[in-house]
Amino acid sequence: MRTVGVIGAGQMGSGIAQTISQNGAKVLLADIDIALAEKAKAGIEKGLVKLVGRGKIEAGDAEAALARIEPVGDYSSMVDAELIIEAATEREEIKQSIFEEAGKVLGQGAIMASNTSSIPITRMANYAPDPERFIGLHFFNPVPVMGLIEVIPGLATSQNTTDRIVAFAESLGKQVVLSQDEPGFVVNRILLPMINEAIFVLGQSTANIQDIDKGCRLGLNHPMGPLELADFVGLDTCLDIIKVLYNTTGDSKYRPAPLLMKYVEAGWLGRKTGKGFYDYSGDTPVPTR
Ligand code: NAD
Repeated sequence: MRTVGVIGAGQMGSGIAQTISQNGAKVLLADIDIALAEKAKAGIEKGLVKLVGRGKIEAGDAEAALARIEPVGDYSSMVDAELIIEAATEREEIKQSIFEEAGKVLGQGAIMASNTSSIPITRMANYAPDPERFIGLHFFNPVPVMGLIEVIPGLATSQNTTDRIVAFAESLGKQVVLSQDEPGFVVNRILLPMINEAIFVLGQSTANIQDIDKGCRLGLNHPMGPLELADFVGLDTCLDIIKVLYNTTGDSKYRPAPLLMKYVEAGWLGRKTGKGFYDYSGDTPVPTR
């Protein structure tokens, strides 16, 4: 792909834009307005400067990657994009309006993809101009670091679209896992029940926060414990995803842990608010229970 549109310039959209531009394509980056896309570009620049400082990339490559990212105030220039990736807030009505608006400029043969964590691809394909050219492209956070992309064809997605998107994902240096369009796809379907169960274990005082995380780090050889990871993902995001699993399957094994709901109600959402299962205000994280 030579030109890719990215809509939604938050933590995921920024990482997606950076990764694509570092791999040589031009990125048209949009958000609610151009100022937000410009702010995201400034954030990407900071990240690239750090990578240069640590000797991970050459200064010239960082400059070239940055120059390939163009913040845009509307979708008109995306008529040239071979792929438009939506990475906006996880709310279906927001995504619907993006697919309808950007769909007006989607080029002949171009693909529209969503980075959604949980909203069905088959349903959202109806908001796009051509469901055969609509697909799920699920990156992991932080995008430049994580080696996996899940590709999720909807019921109507053509094989040609899937093949082109798999090739694109691999061209970014990522490995691909194909998933059917089922709630949580593959990784979140496995991860979120584990995080939720860890919160039940905490809520029942079976062990404290540190021991639950230590148990999984040392006993399962996971690089992070489930509660640390929940703080990293965002507790509101964890709750949204486990609710989608519960509501779409009706299976009680996915019922959200009451303590997770309590933390979200308190506004303790993890690293992004400075407090979740750990308090991040000091030099080292301190458990909140
Ligand atoms: P975020 O809150 O950091 O970013 C969302 C961005 O969307 C914001 O910049 C917001 O201004 C923008 N936005 C909102 N409405 C818009 C509109 N109408 N038009 C254009 N932009 C709009 O959220 P995020 O963590 O980057 O998540 C974005 C998407 O990626 C969600 O669908 C989420 O489920 C998915 N996702 C998140 C993660 C994660 O770990 N955070 C991982 C994989 C996928």
